[in-house]
Amino acid sequence: HFLKFPAGKQGPLRLVFLNCQPCLPTGRLLVGNWTEVEKNAVTIFGKIIRREIPADIVYEDDLCLAFRDINPQAPVHLLLIPKKEIARLADAPPEDQALLGHLLLAANKVARQLGVQDAYRVVVNNGAGAGQSVFHLHLHILAGRPMRWPPG
Ligand code: AMP
Repeated sequence: HFLKFPAGKQGPLRLVFLNCQPCLPTGRLLVGNWTEVEKNAVTIFGKIIRREIPADIVYEDDLCLAFRDINPQAPVHLLLIPKKEIARLADAPPEDQALLGHLLLAANKVARQLGVQDAYRVVVNNGAGAGQSVFHLHLHILAGRPMRWPPG
């Protein structure tokens, strides 16, 4: 990453991703405070993709990666993420239509691989108000227990 930012961690800042392969797909110019930037610039999931931190990976292809949630909410709780950095579903541009379709088909593939293809739930939390805590788009795949409706 080629990042430009002020020395201190105080106040608003301007952060530009230059010539950075992982950052190029979104080509984002982030302007905000450190909390927002840290949320968006370096997520835990990006580190998992780059194998900088460990994860229990159960599926991988050219476009996405699935691994077990560290704090499972069901006997089977996986996270399926695109390798492309997209912060939230709401930030996915129209040209990612095929990628988003790929994620749903991959979710089914993963569910089948784990033997839960007949009863699983896919959840996307979009935005902090909806419970999103990691700002790299991810599908939760939950299975192995009865699912209530509506979800909480
Ligand atoms: P969300 O709240 O929808 O953004 O979901 C983020 C999920 O990521 C939560 O269910 C966390 O338990 C999970 N999580 C956070 N860090 C890790 C990690 N290092 N490995 C696996 N799952 C993680």
